[in-house]
Amino acid sequence: MKFELSELPYDLNALEPYISRMNLELHHEKHNQTYITNLNSRINGTKFKNLDLETIIKVADGPVFNDAAQVWNHIFYFEGLKPGNNTLKGPFADVIKRNFGSVSFFKNSFIKAALSLFGAGWVWLVLNPKGLMEIIQKSNAGNPLRIGLIPLLTCDLWEHAYYLDYQDKRKDYLEAFWKLINWEMIEKRYNKFTARVD
Ligand code: MN
Repeated sequence: MKFELSELPYDLNALEPYISRMNLELHHEKHNQTYITNLNSRINGTKFKNLDLETIIKVADGPVFNDAAQVWNHIFYFEGLKPGNNTLKGPFADVIKRNFGSVSFFKNSFIKAALSLFGAGWVWLVLNPKGLMEIIQKSNAGNPLRIGLIPLLTCDLWEHAYYLDYQDKRKDYLEAFWKLINWEMIEKRYNKFTARVD
């Protein structure tokens, strides 16, 4: 399977002022494209060549895993955002409250996990096999599917995700990220999983 760069669900300037067009363009069209190009060349002629991305993530190791997981993580990250100053409300806010006590405790916990990750990686909101939410950190290309967790939301903590806009101020990037979360998409991912286990 030859992988191609997926289209963003919004324009390159649509996340401004929180993420600039320049930062998003570089992130999507250069960084993510490089992972795709490298993945295609690594799997060409190997046992991975006809597998879908999710399967490669679950079974591959080393450079093939790294590139495949980075491609998957980026698609998931970009699809989890949408333009605007978005807030979490309605029935899904109640689900978050059931898991974390309050929306503000959830936000603080997520941001704390994101700030305390050393180096490059991702912070994730996931569902464990019992259907309970957890916040976890993953270094480098780490992906929760590897360990049987269902990803609901992720934030890219590689410096390329925010350095043009925020330099070393990761906290400012996280506050901006929070305003861009597409809660309807996160709820959809949650509902898809819970419908499957019911
Ligand atoms: Mn990235």
